[in-house]
Amino acid sequence: MANKKSITILGAGISGLATAHWLKKEGFDIKILELKNEPGGSMETINQNGFLVDFGPNSGLETTPLIRQLVNEVGLSDEMIYASEISNKRFILRNNQLHALPTSASVFLKTKLFSLKGKLRLFGEPFIGKSSDGYYQSIAEFVQRRLGKEFLDYAIDPFVSGVFAGDPYKLSVKSAFPKLYRLEEIYGGLVKGMIKGARERKKRAEESKQSAKMFSFTNGMQTLPKAIAKNLSGSILYKCRVQKVERVSDSTESQWKILYEQNGKQNELVADLVLSTVPAYVTSKIFGSLDKNLIQHLEDIYYPPVMVLYLGFNKKDIGLPLDGFGFLIPSKEKKNFLGAIWSSTIFPNRCDDDKAAFTLFVGGARSPQLFDADKQILIDNALNEFKEIMKINVDPVFIQERIWQKAIPQYNLGYIEHENYFDKFEKENPGIFLGGNYRGGISVGDCVKNSEIILKKIIAN
Ligand SMILES: Cc1cc2nc3c(=O)[nH]c(=O)nc-3n(C[C@H](O)[C@H](O)[C@H](O)COP(=O)(O)OP(=O)(O)OC[C@H]3O[C@@H](n4cnc5c(N)ncnc54)[C@H](O)[C@@H]3O)c2cc1C
Repeated sequence: MANKKSITILGAGISGLATAHWLKKEGFDIKILELKNEPGGSMETINQNGFLVDFGPNSGLETTPLIRQLVNEVGLSDEMIYASEISNKRFILRNNQLHALPTSASVFLKTKLFSLKGKLRLFGEPFIGKSSDGYYQSIAEFVQRRLGKEFLDYAIDPFVSGVFAGDPYKLSVKSAFPKLYRLEEIYGGLVKGMIKGARERKKRAEESKQSAKMFSFTNGMQTLPKAIAKNLSGSILYKCRVQKVERVSDSTESQWKILYEQNGKQNELVADLVLSTVPAYVTSKIFGSLDKNLIQHLEDIYYPPVMVLYLGFNKKDIGLPLDGFGFLIPSKEKKNFLGAIWSSTIFPNRCDDDKAAFTLFVGGARSPQLFDADKQILIDNALNEFKEIMKINVDPVFIQERIWQKAIPQYNLGYIEHENYFDKFEKENPGIFLGGNYRGGISVGDCVKNSEIILKKIIAN
């Protein structure tokens, strides 16, 4: 049955597009306003000189059946691909050597990644009690208390930079890693919680992030937003900079006026509902006139800069076997980059068979000061260190880089107050919904999961 309500969605990244997809099926009258001239936001792929370059996410985790549903409904079932078996192996750098992250008890006992003392400390986890102030703890404090300093330094610190490009001493365990937090809060510990949590997930037909399959598409991650957008064609207006949302004062029903600029011209739209999925620091400008306090909450969310450095080499020039996902670098190792993904080992069709493709990440919340230097210095430092680690003596045959000045929102300590304020703002301004990756998780999988949560909120409105 047609739903006559009109909704304007700000932003055509995966958050806005996935929600639009479900809304269209419910019969809503949709318009999407997007700043760029193509869909995808952070999901951006180019194909150049035989290399397929993902500047944003390289993959997603299939943590919800909604992803497969979305993929099938936009006609991509033949293009969705899963990561190679070999890429389950991940490496961590310690003392300039790559060590495989242990995936079984026997490998764990033998690995040189952790000292004997560090390993013994892990066995104490089930006996560590609950913290009284878990609510205000960083992921670093949480992990050090439960698993010890060495596990923090050589497993969690690199993991946090791999996911958030974040600083473990600043990220809130409750907000950034809610599942980890819940394991302690509800079950009293990680080991106990993992056993019981697996049973609960089974009931909800959800996958844990550890066991969820890693996916991409034959032609890279932007394939998904492009296909969703194609399905919504006619509803998306590109090159539109949304500037402000105001209440329509002469309307008896609550309605909203959206002011935007397109090709140098001022325009406006009126809609019953507005869903914002643009970044927090843009949302603050758009909705600030409705609630001055909202501005502070949104602008407090830090987005560190990240450089994505994509490198192509001839396979014969790589000194190490490419038998894994790639490697992450703990802060303690003091390198100029966060880690590298062995892109062409994970998925096919990233480059010719005689070439190898790598994606390096530089900066993040751990070292934003690197961006004070010239871009070429950043590139050279990361490239030289990468070549040394990978035992490569030649220059790459292909280089591309992209600096995201504001890359990924950090769910830092104090985030919970922002989250509560966003809920309050939505209650006081019925018909406005704040979405996007600064709420409910930053991963592509989380953005898709949230699209269903937002759909339910919109329908209930
Ligand atoms: C370098 C990098 C690597 C990542 N790697 C991974 C990964 O491997 N796996 C994973 O799961 N996740 C990864 N992520 C995270 C994930 O890609 C993002 O969190 C997710 O794509 C965000 O989607 P979104 O729609 O919420 O926001 P965005 O993609 O940021 O979309 C917001 C949209 O709003 C538009 N916009 C901005 N201002 C305006 C305005 N004034 N008017 C109109 N439109 C506007 C933007 O142009 C954009 O299209 C990565 C992110 C980055 C940056």
